[in-house]
This record gives sequence, structure tokens and C-alpha cells, in this order.
Amino acid sequence: MNVIYVDNNATTKVANDVVEAMLPFFTNFYGNPSSVHNYGEIVSDRMNQAREQVASFLGAQTDEIVFTSCGSESNNTAIMSVINSNPDKKHIITTAVEHPAVLNLCDYLSKNGYKKTILPVDKDGRLDLQQLEDSICDDTCIVSIMWANNETGIIFPVEKISDITKNRGVLFHCDAVQAAGKIPIDLSKIPIDYLSISGHKLHAPKGVGVLFVRKGIELNPLIIGGHQEKGRRAGTENTPYIVGLGKACELAAVYLDYYNTKVKNMRDKLEWSILKHIPNTTINGQNSHRIPNTSNIIFHNVEGEAILLHLNEFNIAASTGSACASGLMEPSHVLLAMGISEKDAHSAVRFSLSRFNNDRDINLILEHLPSIIKKLRQISPFKESFG
Ligand code: PLP
Repeated sequence: MNVIYVDNNATTKVANDVVEAMLPFFTNFYGNPSSVHNYGEIVSDRMNQAREQVASFLGAQTDEIVFTSCGSESNNTAIMSVINSNPDKKHIITTAVEHPAVLNLCDYLSKNGYKKTILPVDKDGRLDLQQLEDSICDDTCIVSIMWANNETGIIFPVEKISDITKNRGVLFHCDAVQAAGKIPIDLSKIPIDYLSISGHKLHAPKGVGVLFVRKGIELNPLIIGGHQEKGRRAGTENTPYIVGLGKACELAAVYLDYYNTKVKNMRDKLEWSILKHIPNTTINGQNSHRIPNTSNIIFHNVEGEAILLHLNEFNIAASTGSACASGLMEPSHVLLAMGISEKDAHSAVRFSLSRFNNDRDINLILEHLPSIIKKLRQISPFKESFG
């Protein structure tokens, strides 16, 4: 099926080179990297090479890289490690636009004796850094703030955030799941303590992730058992996927410029053509610093879900930020946090591109979208507002 896939913030195609790198580790080199025989050692050596590839991609050292099963596990591990190591500190700080892997954990902790501060964002999705600084108190054990938002692509100033947390002596965890591969990450320059990435957002498979833990910073394992990952994450390593993630990181470094030139140009063309040809549309976070692949657009007075279904008929795969909760579509918490009304949040569609998209994809979306919106607006109960 020839899909025009513009839902890359949800997940990405596994790159062919990544598949190729992984395959021998299913078939020939299936040894356990902890085994002492040569057959285990071959796998262990290749896993170390993957660790080097990831470390180099992040500007980190190899012993700062812990392989996990996903971004959610990395986020949970970092936060729970700090919680468990600091039993006398009961305050956590995060933002209103985090992924549920952070927000729901903070929610859980707040029901179990912790105080949480959820920092708001403004209409452009920006944080007030003074408010962050003012929120930190003696009881604060961790600040967890994402690098780039999955729905809007808006980038938070993590350099400034890490300066603030360093000055105040508080640990900083950064969810960089959507930043990795789209903007440069150099942890040799930014004093972040913990950082999460996820394989399936950068053309490696689903089910593998990384937690960076800065040298000298404690990590209590979330999964307790064997001594894998130097006792920091028990469980026999998913070696094919780890090898794939290493390759994906190597490729991501190569394609970084491409994202910030060609992919960004495609995204920008999509946006200005939509603004030009489809009336009553708003780009969320248009005035903010954003990752180059993401566009979140409100088509006022049309249901985002209906737009997706119509795009689907042309094999175009995009997404809304709405989540299904108890059979009802809940508007995106990210858009609501930006002060967007529930009605407008239901009219948002996210297009997220990758290096596998091309101009033809953008042209096809632009060919079909205006008539889809026009048709839906004709049957919309709000049609009179278009005059
Ligand atoms: N953090 C962000 C910002 C994400 O976008 C996602 C996935 O959508 C996650 C965390 C969770 O990653 P995973 O699906 O690997 O658990």
C-alpha cells in the first residue's frame, strides 16, 4: 500500500539499514550477551558498539547509556530513581504539556504523598522560567521537563532549564523522545542529569529506548533482577533492537541537517499553502521555536477526526492530539494548556514528517485537503460563520 505517512511523531518506519543491522542478531548471533562463551561475547561486543553509537549521538560517554524497553520506561526509571533515593524530599515539578508517561506518573505520586507543581504554558506553548525557579523549594527532588512537545513540536529552552536546576541543586530529567534526531543534542554541553529517548521515534523499532544517566548521578533500577546494564536495568538485553537503535542513532546524526533544511522546508510549505488556500486555519505554536518536522493545525469548525477519516481515504495517515478515554474523544491536554478552547482543540490535526517524506507527499496532501475541509465545512453546523 502506498501510504503518505505523516504521523512520524506517533511512530516511524524502521529504516532499511536498521533492519539489515538487526537481522543477524535474530538468526546467527542470538547468544546471550552475559554468556561467557565466544557466542555471547560476539553479541556483547556488538551491543557495546551500539552503546558507543548512542553515546556519540548524544554527546555522552558509553557508561552513561542505559538501554531500556521504551521512552515511557526511561521516564519512569529516572523519576522513580530520584523519588526512591530521596525519601525525605516530597516535591516534583513538571509541565502541563508533558507526555502521559511523565504526567500520569506525577499524578500517581501526588496521590501517594507527593506534592506536584505542574507549570503552565502560555498561548505560544512557552514556559515562564521565573515561575520554574520560584517553584523550586528545599523539598523539591526532581524537575522533569520535555525537550520538544510531541503534539505541537514546541521546543523548551533546556539549556536555561538545566542552568536553573543546577544553580538550585535540583536534579533535572529531560524527556527528549521527540527531540532526538530532529535537533542537535549535545549532553557534553548541557548539564542535564537524566535524558530519555525512544527507538521507534527515530527509525529504530518499537520496544527499545535509552536512559542517559550522567556520570556520578545515582540510578536505582526500576526493574530489579539480574546485573544487566551494570545493575541499572535488569532483564536479558533485547540485543537485535539495541543493535538497531545504535544504527538508527548513527543515521540520525547524518540526517540532522536534512531535517533542518529539507524536512523543515516541506513542513513550512505545507503550512503556508494551507494558510493561503484554506481560510480560518491556525498553526499552533507558529511563533515558537519548533522541531522541524511537526505542524499542528486547527481547521476551525471542523472535527479533526472527520478530517483524518477523509485523508485516510487518500491513504494519507496523520493524527489528532485527541485521546480516546472511556469511549469519548478527549481534547488534547497540550492544546488546552495553551488556552485553546475544547472546540478548537477538537479541530486540530497534526502532520509530522520524516526524512522518508518527499515533495510529492506534500503536494498530494495539499491537493486533497482544501476540498476535504470545504466539504466538511458545508455540512458543519457552524457553516454560517464562513459567510
Ligand atoms: N515522551 C514523548 C514526548 C513521546 O512522544 C512518547 C511517545 O509518544 C513517549 C515519551 C513514550 O515513548 P514510548 O512510546 O517509547 O514509550
